[in-house]
Amino acid sequence: MSTASRPTPLLIRPDKETFLNEANPFEAMMSRFDYAAQRLSLDPGLYKVLRSPEKQIIVSVPILRDTGDVEVYTGFRVLYNTSRGPAKGGIRFDMNVTLDEVKALAAWMTWKCAVVNIPFGGSKGGVICDPPTLSNAELERITRRYTSAIIETLGPDSDVPAPDMNTNERMMAWIMDTYSMHKRHTVTSVVTGKPVEMGGSLGRREATGRGCMIVTREALKKLRMPIAGTRVAVQGFGNVGSIAAELMEALGLTVVAVSDKSGAIYNPKGLRIKEVQQHVKEHRFLSEYREAESIGNDELLTIDCDVLVPAALENVITSKNARDVKARIICEGANGPTTANADRILEENGIFVIPDILANAGGVTVSYFEWVQDRGGYFWDEETVNQRLERIMVQSFDEVAAMAGKHASSMRIGAYMQAIERVAAVHRLRGMYA
Ligand code: NAD
Repeated sequence: MSTASRPTPLLIRPDKETFLNEANPFEAMMSRFDYAAQRLSLDPGLYKVLRSPEKQIIVSVPILRDTGDVEVYTGFRVLYNTSRGPAKGGIRFDMNVTLDEVKALAAWMTWKCAVVNIPFGGSKGGVICDPPTLSNAELERITRRYTSAIIETLGPDSDVPAPDMNTNERMMAWIMDTYSMHKRHTVTSVVTGKPVEMGGSLGRREATGRGCMIVTREALKKLRMPIAGTRVAVQGFGNVGSIAAELMEALGLTVVAVSDKSGAIYNPKGLRIKEVQQHVKEHRFLSEYREAESIGNDELLTIDCDVLVPAALENVITSKNARDVKARIICEGANGPTTANADRILEENGIFVIPDILANAGGVTVSYFEWVQDRGGYFWDEETVNQRLERIMVQSFDEVAAMAGKHASSMRIGAYMQAIERVAAVHRLRGMYA
């Protein structure tokens, strides 16, 4: 693996190194944005526009609990930038949702859609609640009431939600139904990630993991690393992590470790991913899996491997553990798994990071396909979906690598520069309505 070429170190602005709050995702996003904007010599007016979310909505979501008591939840929807098309972004239900987090995620969606060059802007939403303590009926009432509270911004031409943490295709069906009831006709294209029976796309469930596999394969090619014998560790065994692991194994890579919130398992000879998936289907968690060694959750991030796929949470690779990462490639399946301070350390150590706004963009790409299919009323077979996803992911990887090469920067800064250039170009063409 040592024959691979090393990327040029990123020049982080020194003032950012010292005071960055690693836990604040909006600061993490902005520090990369600022640096990329600086490298592009973005004009000061556009810089101000692109630094500001277009719209931030805070709503109260009152519902009747199953006990008959009233509870009021707080919900957010942030439309970060819609210059390139309707806003696109998921909705998460979680106790840790904050406006800052939603703003960061909405900005990431803007850059992500621009990196893969699909005609969407970026948005995100969330409700502060604790799904495991809520019944299905309560979750349905929260979903519907939240949808009606933000209904003026929603629409196939204005803002199109999707699932995110703790939300799923069942909830997307409720959003579609609530919106359609208000509009008095069925509008499938108001939301993506729906069940296939009601306008969802074939291949959507696997799309993010498939995208991770494709860009990892391209990175191995670029670094002249072989497929055979290359070892992968995956943090998170949910939608993204388990599919990425399955498809990477099918590609010929050896998946040596995977984890979920219950723990991590390791087998230096390679895990059998289908068996692990079956175990999780039956027992919900990995912790009881007996065919591999149990290791600590944090240990997985620094285990001896060639490719690390963080596909669970934000801020897991930080200035505290970045020096111990042994992988040669990091493929960011999750949003924001690496802090800005960790970026610098990873670059110094010659680790090739495929940034989240490229690595996990397969999901929003097939969401775009879903929206196109709903609007056209004509549905594609899975092979067509996968071929079109493959083409977009390979092209985007090449474009980001070319941008990074041109500016002698990391792939992350290359991706931000690519995105900012595309969003800024549309702003310039549209002009300022002032
Ligand atoms: P998921 O809920 O299906 O899976 C999350 C997994 O992470 C679970 O296996 C969970 O047990 C595990 N996990 C939680 N805490 C952990 C910990 N401390 N250590 C190890 N594992 C832990 O979620 P998902 O859809 O796979 O999303 C994962 C990440 O990918 C999120 O950051 C999400 O925003 C991002 N993402 C998802 C998609 C998508 O299409 N699903 C698209 C783009 C980005």
